[in-house]
Amino acid sequence: SSIWSNVEMGPPDAILGVSEAFKKDKSPNKMNLGVGAYRDDNGKPYVLPSVRKAEDIIRSKNLDKEYLGITGLAEFTKASAILAFGDNCDAIKNKRNVTAQGISGTGSLRIGANFLSKFYPGVKEVWLPKPSWGNHTPIFKHAGIEVKQYRYYDPSTCGFDAKGAYEDISKIPENSIILLHACAHNPTGVDPKPDQWKELSQIIKSRKLFPFFDMAYQGFASGNIDNDAAAVRMFVNEGHNIALAQSYAKNMGLYGERVGAFTLICESEEEAKRCESQLKIIIRPMYSNPPLSGPRIASTILNTAELRSQWLTEVKGMADRIITMRSQLVENLKKEGSSHNWQHITDQIGMFCFTGLKPDQVARITEEFSVYLTKDGRISVAGISSKNNAYLAHAIHTVSK
Ligand code: PLP
Repeated sequence: SSIWSNVEMGPPDAILGVSEAFKKDKSPNKMNLGVGAYRDDNGKPYVLPSVRKAEDIIRSKNLDKEYLGITGLAEFTKASAILAFGDNCDAIKNKRNVTAQGISGTGSLRIGANFLSKFYPGVKEVWLPKPSWGNHTPIFKHAGIEVKQYRYYDPSTCGFDAKGAYEDISKIPENSIILLHACAHNPTGVDPKPDQWKELSQIIKSRKLFPFFDMAYQGFASGNIDNDAAAVRMFVNEGHNIALAQSYAKNMGLYGERVGAFTLICESEEEAKRCESQLKIIIRPMYSNPPLSGPRIASTILNTAELRSQWLTEVKGMADRIITMRSQLVENLKKEGSSHNWQHITDQIGMFCFTGLKPDQVARITEEFSVYLTKDGRISVAGISSKNNAYLAHAIHTVSK
């Protein structure tokens, strides 16, 4: 037998599988609502004009392409921490943070997972909301951290299961790790309300849990970067020393540029320095140092007043278009004569909507209408346009009546 005869064929990626099936479909009405990437109202990928401008500025500077340091571009990581925690964050002002550039959100989560695996003194178990982004489980498992789940989504209301979450989190073994989606929860689109976040913060504190926030959609949920960071900032104000993974894939549309950051809030500047030295030791043998082009773009936007405000308007534009698609979809479902309550479509927020469609309905909508989505009934609202919104409503109504 050959060297690799023991290697079994692995299952295809659930979401990329949807895209492949979509590509093969010949229907002129086909819709890909699987992949989480923003589309404009013509269904086309969108490069933000502020990103184009930043690229022009960078090109005109004729910069060199020397290696970055292990923790990345300092102007970027500094601005990134301020974007997340705000201008008036004491922890940042007192240099209690260490922020390392990561390979987008995924890579930033992985740096954090590896650090926790090596140094976290408590229980090496991370508790994820049920359900969570599919990649969370292997990211933590591959880093050697056990994965458990707490109740989060209530299928009967297509909303937040506050009671279930409080109950489950109250029973998590003390000193475990808890993962929280900062805003625009993926895959459900369901976020806790501000008072529910307060309650979560209290319970998490009383259980002495370590909060690890994943913020992949800052600005993308409400259209406002400060609103979307409110939970993260509240936790830090309440004295939690959190970990945070940031991604600029969605809010700057820098998907393939892989721009992100990992931050640890520490007890003191001295502690932050020690943690930084160890983060470097973790990163160095993985990829030596991070890429240069993407964070230059992000840094130019964040650190140039005019570009920054242009970007904020563009983020709001993307969020608003998604919010409009949600309300149009509900209206179109009413026009179709649907008797179901679709309010969760507008209550949910961010790129994704958990429609509540059952697996057999998902199979049917794909088969009969060439509408592609994941089996759990999640649609990427960013994939809907004003042109195909009514078609989608008709399709959903037909399979759900
Ligand atoms: N975390 C969540 C919840 C996500 O939905 C995503 C992207 O879909 C990511 C992290 C990271 O994505 P990326 O690595 O492309 O930044």
